[in-house]
Amino acid sequence: MAEKPVSNFSTGEKPTWDLYSKCVHCGLCLDQCPTYRALGTEMDSPRGRIYQMVLVDQGRLALADSFVTHIDRCLGCLNCETACPSGVPYGSLLERARSQIEENYPRSWLQRKVRSHFYGTVLPSFSKLARHAKLVRFYQRSGLQSLARGSGLLKLLGVAELDALSPRIESDFSFADLGRVYPAEGKQRGRVALLIGCISSVAFAELNRATIRVLTRNGIEVHIPRSQSCCGALHLHAGYLEQSRAQARHNIDAVLKPEFDAIVTNAAGCGSTMKEYAALLEHDPQDAKRAQQFVVKVRDISEYLAQVGLVEPARRLKARVTYQDPCHLAHAQGIRSAPRQLLKFIGAEMVESPRADSCCGSAGVYNVTQNEISMKILDEKMGYIASVEPEIVATANVGCMLQLSVGAKRKGLNSRVAHVVELLDEAY
Ligand code: SF4
Ligand code: SF4
Repeated sequence: MAEKPVSNFSTGEKPTWDLYSKCVHCGLCLDQCPTYRALGTEMDSPRGRIYQMVLVDQGRLALADSFVTHIDRCLGCLNCETACPSGVPYGSLLERARSQIEENYPRSWLQRKVRSHFYGTVLPSFSKLARHAKLVRFYQRSGLQSLARGSGLLKLLGVAELDALSPRIESDFSFADLGRVYPAEGKQRGRVALLIGCISSVAFAELNRATIRVLTRNGIEVHIPRSQSCCGALHLHAGYLEQSRAQARHNIDAVLKPEFDAIVTNAAGCGSTMKEYAALLEHDPQDAKRAQQFVVKVRDISEYLAQVGLVEPARRLKARVTYQDPCHLAHAQGIRSAPRQLLKFIGAEMVESPRADSCCGSAGVYNVTQNEISMKILDEKMGYIASVEPEIVATANVGCMLQLSVGAKRKGLNSRVAHVVELLDEAY
């Protein structure tokens, strides 16, 4: 009798037969995959990555450098999930493959140190994140950054592209808002809890303030729960499943209250992860039910505003606008029409670019860790955007905003890049 193959994955959470056997190898996902389009190799396509997971699970491929390289190169954009007619849960497969890599693959000493510091120490603690952000702000504002840029040092070190991608740290962080309640203007139509986000709180605090203004202007009372924390999205996408579960439990305790109609976020990546809390905690006897109750209330800001209906703006946005779908809004949450509706409502002349829902290459920290591929993907995207000659490129996720701004500069495009909420705020 033939011996049962021994998996090269360890026990615990791993890509399993019930998930990967749904792939019928049809290849319909290939042209939708940005890394396949950029690199042209089967190993960097969804079908190829799934096949490599099967081989590792069957003990026919080592969980070693080659496998890790191709899984690391995946954006986690889920463009393939939308394209797949067989319903392959690619996102779950990827999360599990990455968690196996974290468990079993010996990354270099430096990589391990940087990753454990960033994911384990900085992200879960708003106070530690604030301390780090202040150091970056000092570098950006003291003249050190200009000096490093002007002297050519960054180019020499090969980090000029990364430097351009780092967000500008703001003067006032959103953490000062923790515990505050903002009353609704006029007749109250709802009450929500707002998640301010980790990186957003230091680099996009003004966007958080604009979110509060738009909500209150629309008759919504906004609470900023004091002990909320990072949602766990970056942990989940990097393979730190247990840490993302810890973040989920923390936020459920901090935010889930019967008096809130919704739990709102302006970041697509945070929203999609918070909507995954029920799946993440489904085997947790203590928190499974509360996770389901939490998920029912999570809304992206555009989804929530489209649901309650906008009040008339003070002025109309007279501009030619193209909307670029963040992957974690369109592919992970299925939200495509709400942001477009809102922009139309305030007067935007909407123009659709080809492949508006294709990933821009930002993908969390992907543009830093896989910079070369990310820029290739971005340049393709900017070509499509330029073809419709927009005055404004609108999107609904802070990471995409940053990436598209860099893309506009690289392309020499004179368009403004803005979050949907910023445009709503200006209209009010
Ligand atoms: S998640 Fe994105 S990058 Fe990864 S395989 Fe799917 S389409 Fe390609
Ligand atoms: S579209 Fe779905 S079934 Fe077809 S190859 Fe891609 S993942 Fe497999």
